[in-house]
Amino acid sequence: MRIQELHQALAAIGARPCHVGRITRAWLKGQPLDAGTRHQKGEHYFPLSVRNGLPPLVAQLDALARIESQHPAEDGSLRLLVRLNDGQMVESVLLPRDGLCVSSQVGCAVGCTFCMTGKSGLLRQLGSAEIVAQVALARRIRPVKKVVFMGMGEPAHNIDNVLDAIQLLGTDGNIGHKNLVFSTVGDPRVFERLPQQRVKPALALSLHSTNAELRAQLLPRAPRYQPAELVALGEDYARRVGYPIQYQWTLLAGINDTQQEMDAAVRLLRGKYGVLNIIPYNSVDGDHYQRPSTERIQQIKRYLHDNGVLTKVRDSAGQDIDGGCGQLRARAADVIDH
Ligand code: SF4
Repeated sequence: MRIQELHQALAAIGARPCHVGRITRAWLKGQPLDAGTRHQKGEHYFPLSVRNGLPPLVAQLDALARIESQHPAEDGSLRLLVRLNDGQMVESVLLPRDGLCVSSQVGCAVGCTFCMTGKSGLLRQLGSAEIVAQVALARRIRPVKKVVFMGMGEPAHNIDNVLDAIQLLGTDGNIGHKNLVFSTVGDPRVFERLPQQRVKPALALSLHSTNAELRAQLLPRAPRYQPAELVALGEDYARRVGYPIQYQWTLLAGINDTQQEMDAAVRLLRGKYGVLNIIPYNSVDGDHYQRPSTERIQQIKRYLHDNGVLTKVRDSAGQDIDGGCGQLRARAADVIDH
């Protein structure tokens, strides 16, 4: 379901725009849908047709997405396994400091070689109402003031639904525009569409390497931008909207943690309006990537800092990584910190 269809269904039972707004805001607060139809004292003041027509819509929205299970982690995050109407599962992660990471697709077509989600390929798109429902569900558990689109899926591959969700969350959902973070591997549609939106989200770009060939191996089906071109597009958007870009770099021992890479990262990112988030990889049984040593991670952080690149390291050691995207919580938590 798309948000537009929800609004049309409400109009069909006689809801006027002001009613639709009240009902939608109640949903986004994590309240029962019909809470928006009552005065504070509990009296109804909506037309009878709306009151009578609402229960089937409430049932439809409840069935759209349900929390299947909750998985707390030591750092205060809470992974929610969300069952969709057709039985497919996605995950959302409640993060410390009122953040929420949401999924935009079931599976993902980009196929990043270090990501669990990428291994399944794309199974289906999420409708905008399914994306927003993840926020409504999470708000039943605790406050959500920042939403990052960094869960399962590449948001650019489902851009209409993601932008609809962002528009609603940045208005009726009461979330500051810079607290909505669109994450992408870099896609021309992002750079065309985001500047045109009324609600302009912040941007996170998955860089992972300054070497175009290596980047193409790690992100096999990402658009073939040269890293410098990607950074130039990101920089242009960041300057326009006034919030820095978050560059994401999953650190893989012996692959993209070399001195040569770090020198190139300095040349590429020094003086840019952005932050480099380094996420040391969490090794998974049977895969061929390794996490760099703690000493190497600290060296890299110091080197980048000393050479003028604002760098954050997310120490994700010991994290529960059996979620959809192996590095999901670490990546998202970095973005929440900014
Ligand atoms: Fe898709 Fe993101 Fe996983 Fe890459 S890291 S495969 S873009 S979900």
